[in-house]
Amino acid sequence: MAEQTYGAAVIGGGIVGAATAMALSGKVRGGVVVLEKEDRLAAHQTGNNSGVIHSGLYYRPGSLKAQNCTQGREALYRFCMENGIPHKRCGKLVVATREAELPALERLAERGEANGLTDLRRLRGLDELRAYEPHVYGLAGLWVPQTGIVDYHAVTAAFAKCIRERDGEILTGTRFISRNADGDTQVLETTSGTIRCRTLVNCAGLQSDRVARACGVNPGLKIIPFRGEYYVLRPERESLVNGLIYPVPDPNFPFLGVHFTRMINGGVEAGPNAVPAFRREGYRKLDISLRDMAETFLYPGFVRMGLRHLGMGVGEMWRSWVKPAFVASLRRLIPEIAGSDVKRGGAGVRAQALEADGTLVDDFRIVEAPGMVHVLNAPSPAATAAITIGETIAARVMDQLKLKS
Ligand SMILES: Cc1cc2nc3c(=O)[nH]c(=O)nc-3n(C[C@H](O)[C@H](O)[C@H](O)COP(=O)(O)OP(=O)(O)OC[C@H]3O[C@@H](n4cnc5c(N)ncnc54)[C@H](O)[C@@H]3O)c2cc1C
Repeated sequence: MAEQTYGAAVIGGGIVGAATAMALSGKVRGGVVVLEKEDRLAAHQTGNNSGVIHSGLYYRPGSLKAQNCTQGREALYRFCMENGIPHKRCGKLVVATREAELPALERLAERGEANGLTDLRRLRGLDELRAYEPHVYGLAGLWVPQTGIVDYHAVTAAFAKCIRERDGEILTGTRFISRNADGDTQVLETTSGTIRCRTLVNCAGLQSDRVARACGVNPGLKIIPFRGEYYVLRPERESLVNGLIYPVPDPNFPFLGVHFTRMINGGVEAGPNAVPAFRREGYRKLDISLRDMAETFLYPGFVRMGLRHLGMGVGEMWRSWVKPAFVASLRRLIPEIAGSDVKRGGAGVRAQALEADGTLVDDFRIVEAPGMVHVLNAPSPAATAAITIGETIAARVMDQLKLKS
């Protein structure tokens, strides 16, 4: 490919990169290009997630997650309606199965209200819970009407259509390798040749820390891959689940706990768990990369986090390898479920940023450098919030471009 010049180049064709390029396309002199190393968009986190449109229940009020999830959720519902993307605002049930979880359930309700969720219903006792989910067991629950389901492949494909309609370009099969500066111009080496641009945006998900480093920016964190494995309910047992059933999450851990999700394209999934992966893009248990393993296991932050969450980590590994242990956690929510009712499904790998002191980075993290914007942590609910995050990142790019012109 001959050398090409653009206004902005977005590295990564997941939902965050696509949303950013959509927000920029038609506005940036010189146009926008998305560089995606795989042969298709949404190949990693975006295409292997639970397909839930999150409500904004869990996030610290005022955090980027809370702001972007609340606005992004409604923006996504509107986008789906305007673009004919199948989706459903089905609501979800969070269930406390033990007395000890009741205070955390109430804190969750208060947090949701602080984040602007209206019409939350506090449920007491089995009868009230079973009015929503007839097979569930629990002591109390929270009904969250704003939650929904969608297929994020379809959403990303619709973002891509908008990008192309506004003269943006998408180059799949194009891996970003390195970056140099030529005055105010960013010069990117890719597997499809040299690309010049005024601003680059790093939305590389599981590779975002490496892309930052290749751009000469110290990310100050490491991406640790956490695989999330799913089981699927056999079709004849799907009637056990109406919609979405979640446990009360452990507040010390950034993941929500294994839950039941009725998918927009049919079927019911149970999961995901959260186990460290031996490869950043490794979807099977024994997918191994020595480079990825060395980077993870030799990182001081990983050792510190491991010691801090040892019990949880061992439990997750056990549940990953031993089906009855996984089924036991499902049975806490739906006691009727037997091992024969579920079979192994797919998996996704989360990009979780970890600091050297062992702190799991909770909020979205966006870092700027001259001519560059790096998205270094965009975990769940980034798919839900993508439209708003994309607009936030695009605003920063536009500010940088204005300063230059
Ligand atoms: C198991 C699981 C369940 C989840 N469930 C939900 C949910 O229900 N709801 C929700 O809102 N969120 C959910 N999430 C989170 C959500 O999927 C992510 O936050 C979101 O997809 C992040 O999007 P992204 O574009 O940043 O990353 P990605 O989708 O991973 O995209 C990054 C892209 O960058 C590309 N790339 C990397 N390096 C390069 C390079 N050098 N050159 C070119 N391209 C490169 C990759 O190939 C990839 O396509 C879940 C995540 C997982 C893993």
